[in-house]
Amino acid sequence: MAPQPGYETMTFRRCGRSGLDLPAVALGLWQNFGETTPASTQREIVTRAVELGITHIDLANNYGPPPGAAEKSFGRMLAEDLPGLRDELVISTKAGYTMWPGPYGDGGSRKYLLASLDQSLERLGLPYVDIFYSHRFDPTTPLRETLGALKTAVDSGRALYAGISSYSARRTREALAVAESIGLDLLVHQPSYSIVNRWIEDRSDTGESVLDVLGESGLGAVVFSPLAQGLLTDKYLGGIPEGSRAAQDGSFKRDMLTPDLVERVRGLNEVASGRGQSLAQMAIAWVLRDPRVSTALVGASSVRQLEDSVAALENLEFSAEELEAIDRLGMDDAGVNIWAPRSSD
Ligand code: NAP
Repeated sequence: MAPQPGYETMTFRRCGRSGLDLPAVALGLWQNFGETTPASTQREIVTRAVELGITHIDLANNYGPPPGAAEKSFGRMLAEDLPGLRDELVISTKAGYTMWPGPYGDGGSRKYLLASLDQSLERLGLPYVDIFYSHRFDPTTPLRETLGALKTAVDSGRALYAGISSYSARRTREALAVAESIGLDLLVHQPSYSIVNRWIEDRSDTGESVLDVLGESGLGAVVFSPLAQGLLTDKYLGGIPEGSRAAQDGSFKRDMLTPDLVERVRGLNEVASGRGQSLAQMAIAWVLRDPRVSTALVGASSVRQLEDSVAALENLEFSAEELEAIDRLGMDDAGVNIWAPRSSD
């Protein structure tokens, strides 16, 4: 039996100036959905996500481990655990980072993007995805080629919408201009954003921020890692718990947890308590305070975490005092924006 999608409890927000509503909290399968996580845990999280009204599941070609495993696993869950729900879900994937050896398995070329999309569809067992993203700006490939490949993906029916991820304000502007010139409607930008990683507010390059460009152009915003990979929760206040992402020392390195940062997180945790929320809930509510953001794209290693995160939607209002306290304790970049090099090309 497929789970009943929890439409009544989820908040849906329009993705930019498109016709597509997205859930205010979406689930990403970057980590915890590879071959090292039991299939039963993955199934529980994905099934519960749908019950909670999370109709948007985000993937990329390289999510695993090993790369490709998350798409394969989700394809299996879609067929076995979510039968009949394909049209009630928005499934996205991406290509842009290294996927296979040689010059055609990385970057933004037409050769790579379209071959990768075909491989993703095969792993997912689907004829099309809802959103296909250029995962990163590739300074060595003309934007016209990268966006031309996205247009082919849409025109050929392999994707319904096209998006870009981690593009700077300058590159987003350029991408919008190129897209218009080739007749491609871009739907969405997927950047990182959190209380301790505010690069999309930065106006220092061209005088406008990523958020300015999105608001002005009507491109939607699905923001990823609103919990800064788990930093913006109470889990690291007493050390590094076994099994946590920081303990694995992969994308979230132990040395990111400086004493100063942990003190700031402690302060943020107190602000959250004062609002009657967990810190994770406040961090999610904080990115959603901006109407240009339709969706906070979270990860989860358990059903309990996911339930906690979705309950953020019960309180999205902030007082001026709370926002000031968060600004005092938060940072433009607490050293957690590991995608910054890609956004400054
Ligand atoms: P995140 O939500 O900032 O971090 C998720 C991690 O935080 C979980 O694995 C878990 O860590 C912890 N966590 C989650 N909810 C919690 C809760 N309520 N209480 C306590 N701890 C909690 O997001 P992310 O996993 O870094 O990224 C989310 C998604 O964004 C990815 O899956 C992917 O779809 C997308 N993304 C996109 C890009 C891109 O380049 N476009 C890059 C990165 C991510 P533990 O594992 O330690 O339990």
